[in-house]
Amino acid sequence: MAKKYVYFFGGGKADGTAEMKNLLGGKGANLAEMAGNKDLRLPVPPGFTITTEVCTYFYQNKKRYPVGLKEQVDTALKKVEIITGKKFGDPHNPLLISVRSGARKSMPGMMETVLNIGLMDRTIPGLIKKTGNERFVYDAYRRLMTMYADVVMEKSAGIEPKEGQGVRRQLERILDEIKEHKGLKSDANLNVSDLKKICVLYKAKIKEVLDKEFPDDPQEQLWGGIAAVFNSWNGKRAIAYRRIEGIPDEWGTAVNVQSMVFGNMGDTSSTGVAFTRNPGNGDNKFYGEYLVNAQGEDVVAGIRTPAPINEYSQSDFNRNLKTLEELEPRVYRQLEDVRKRLERHYRDMQDIEFTIEEGKLYMLQCRSGKRNGPAAVRMAMDMLKEKLITKEEAVMRVTPAQLDELLHPIIDPKEEKIAKVLGKGLPAGPGGASGQIVFTAEDAVNWVKAGKKVILVREETNPEDVEGMRASEAILTARGGMTSHAALVARGWGKCCIVGCSDIEIELDHKQMRVNGTTLKEGDWITLNGTKGTFYEKRLAMIDAAEENKLFNDFLKICDSIRTLKIRTNADTPEDAAKARSFGAEGIGLFRTEHMFYGKHSEEPLFKLRKMIVSRDEKERRVALEELFPHVKKDIKGTLQAMDGFPVTIRLLDPPLHEFVPHNEEQLQNLANSLGISIEVLEKRAASLRESNPMMGHRGVRLGITYPEVTEMQVRAIFEATVELIKEGKKIYPEIMIPVVVSEKELFHQKEIVDRVYKEVLSNYRLKQFPFLYGTMIEVPRSALTADKIASVAQFFSFGTNDLTQMGFGFSRDDIGSFLPDYLSKKILPEDPFQSLDVQGVGQLMEIAIGKGRFIRPNLKVGICGEHGGDPASIQFCQKVGMDYVSCSPYRVPIARLAAAQAAWNSKGHKKTRKSQ
Ligand code: PEP
Ligand code: MG
Repeated sequence: MAKKYVYFFGGGKADGTAEMKNLLGGKGANLAEMAGNKDLRLPVPPGFTITTEVCTYFYQNKKRYPVGLKEQVDTALKKVEIITGKKFGDPHNPLLISVRSGARKSMPGMMETVLNIGLMDRTIPGLIKKTGNERFVYDAYRRLMTMYADVVMEKSAGIEPKEGQGVRRQLERILDEIKEHKGLKSDANLNVSDLKKICVLYKAKIKEVLDKEFPDDPQEQLWGGIAAVFNSWNGKRAIAYRRIEGIPDEWGTAVNVQSMVFGNMGDTSSTGVAFTRNPGNGDNKFYGEYLVNAQGEDVVAGIRTPAPINEYSQSDFNRNLKTLEELEPRVYRQLEDVRKRLERHYRDMQDIEFTIEEGKLYMLQCRSGKRNGPAAVRMAMDMLKEKLITKEEAVMRVTPAQLDELLHPIIDPKEEKIAKVLGKGLPAGPGGASGQIVFTAEDAVNWVKAGKKVILVREETNPEDVEGMRASEAILTARGGMTSHAALVARGWGKCCIVGCSDIEIELDHKQMRVNGTTLKEGDWITLNGTKGTFYEKRLAMIDAAEENKLFNDFLKICDSIRTLKIRTNADTPEDAAKARSFGAEGIGLFRTEHMFYGKHSEEPLFKLRKMIVSRDEKERRVALEELFPHVKKDIKGTLQAMDGFPVTIRLLDPPLHEFVPHNEEQLQNLANSLGISIEVLEKRAASLRESNPMMGHRGVRLGITYPEVTEMQVRAIFEATVELIKEGKKIYPEIMIPVVVSEKELFHQKEIVDRVYKEVLSNYRLKQFPFLYGTMIEVPRSALTADKIASVAQFFSFGTNDLTQMGFGFSRDDIGSFLPDYLSKKILPEDPFQSLDVQGVGQLMEIAIGKGRFIRPNLKVGICGEHGGDPASIQFCQKVGMDYVSCSPYRVPIARLAAAQAAWNSKGHKKTRKSQ
């Protein structure tokens, strides 16, 4: 028997289930679930899904179909005919069908759809007789012709017309001319004879433009539609979207063929989109929009302003329109019931599409709804409280990127209060953003490439704009509702977005816009408040939003109860340490001593460090170190104090010394004066420090080996700061970390100094003991490979994956920009290894190091302090290899808490907890 390529659904039965997304695509799998699952059995128009495997076959076999597909489609179509009591192509009682795409992951608007297939000269009279609605039939016919000519006969055939010469545009021109001739404003005012005439003109135009007749055969229409959907998988828009979203090219799309129901059969018909909870803020309220007398695509296209389904969904823009609850209370109650059942079944917020045909409700789609970060956290917490989901599921419901949105800036309320509101629209994507106005997606991409921050302002967006939307800080549209393309896409990305701002008049030709009397040109700055839907002239300041958010903190506490990895932070100042503590850091994983010589208040210590660097001999150096000592001690003490009760890993001086040598004349002269030497002598000493490959030169522990007194000074500063704080009653746990180690001998050498200073400090402060650990960074491949030897002296390892990646790949971490983009676009590397850990190579070095290290010292503490410590995918790996903690920058701490909880849950084999996505 031939393989099963076609899955039927309808009449309370279905071949597929929601679990079969890979084969049936998201839409197909959920249609099957809604139609056939015994808890649901919702009113889904019958149809069938052609699997994604057929798409793969299609592309591997010169766009041919597998043997047996045709027969399976025929059989499924027969079943649809039986359930609907109609017949495809039948002159008296014709069945009309839709053909739609449906990939594993939703790709909104990126692929093709053809509706009303089966309408043709032969079936028109029968349908008129059945419906008693001649106008509707001819309207449906001209829609079919437009869609079919555009999608199947032009795009799918690979024809690329000149700008404005596409067949769709040419057909629309006919429509416009007739409307203009008759002085009509809307398509809805066209009468039957207008539409009849339009259909005749359309047919002739299609023949003229494409040199082919519009097919008058149902099978030809059907297979043309199927091929068009498969072809659209490799259309420009779909490919661009896949790149952005990281969807593999191999997945392919399924094709859903379904009997048509009509939301455009008059005033008791409508079509709508709704969310079982508010996707903008997570409110447990039914939220949606609908359009009377319209077909599905009209809602998403944002051409007419949709009406709210209920009072809750009202906004300033649709308040004057009747809610579905008022207009059709019976259907609304039915829809409410569907909402409850779907949530109970999927245990998640669902995004649904429905059509009401002459008072009868049909479900056309459901899927787990996209939501922004604040809504994701809110829903997870509410559903946990409602006992709809477990705490582990709640944690899996929020992606690290969504949590990141809560850490994103909002407009500083002080500035916003006094700023003048320029205009208002619908708040489609929360947070604040400012940028320079651009009016096309292409400009957005180019300006961002040139290092600018932009806000894309459009009449409305369409799928061709996605790259520009992605590049922009925020999106502002003049038209469209909360379910318009711009709103949908922005919400998915957590991007600040305002839609439907009818105050805006865009003059694209002049690259300017007018808003309530103000004219703004391309390049002018504006600021958006996507939470409120208001926007302002100029650039307003931004602040962070998350720290005070109770829900956010409660959610993270749940994460903490699941994770096993500890989360530390990389911080070098008391302020950063305090910030990280407020985000939940449990210690410092990397305190880079040298940071006190950069930035604010660094002049004095830097000057003293410079003196030390250019010292002629140990004696001179010791004098300089004495001067430097109080600065180092004070700095370390401040941070230790801020981390009271938690461990602090302090790394000894790491960078090559010449980095600190002054370059400007005046600074050189000052330094020379203070050392009592001539500028020529100073320059000679400085020149002797120069190296051709400093990252592999005199840095890290190598400094401590050549200048033991430098190590001694730092260790003394750490220990004195520690004991002084302990004497004040604080709980201080310093961990001394030696960088760029290649051999255990280096560690033994430095340990002698540490032990000596420890004894001296004990006796000076009259103490018996105080706690500290002595450990090392693993950031050179040799140290990973000889980790057993290293662990004989080191009490902890901290992976410096920045250097380990640099030396593992032999890629200079500072110069990667010149070739990395080519490596990524040519798919030589899947991603930037400095951002997300290269598990295969660098990860292997880490696994070896942990294995060897713990073999010698079973209780060896292991962490990571490279940039990867804040990357969710890398954290997953850290969990897998049994690390004790990850350390990341303060702002990444909440994300790391979530990622660690998810990693812990996944490590137990719970790969997937969502029923649908
Ligand atoms: C590392 O190499 O990963 C590290 C944390 O040290 P630095 O970035 O300071 O070299
Ligand atoms: Mg390093």
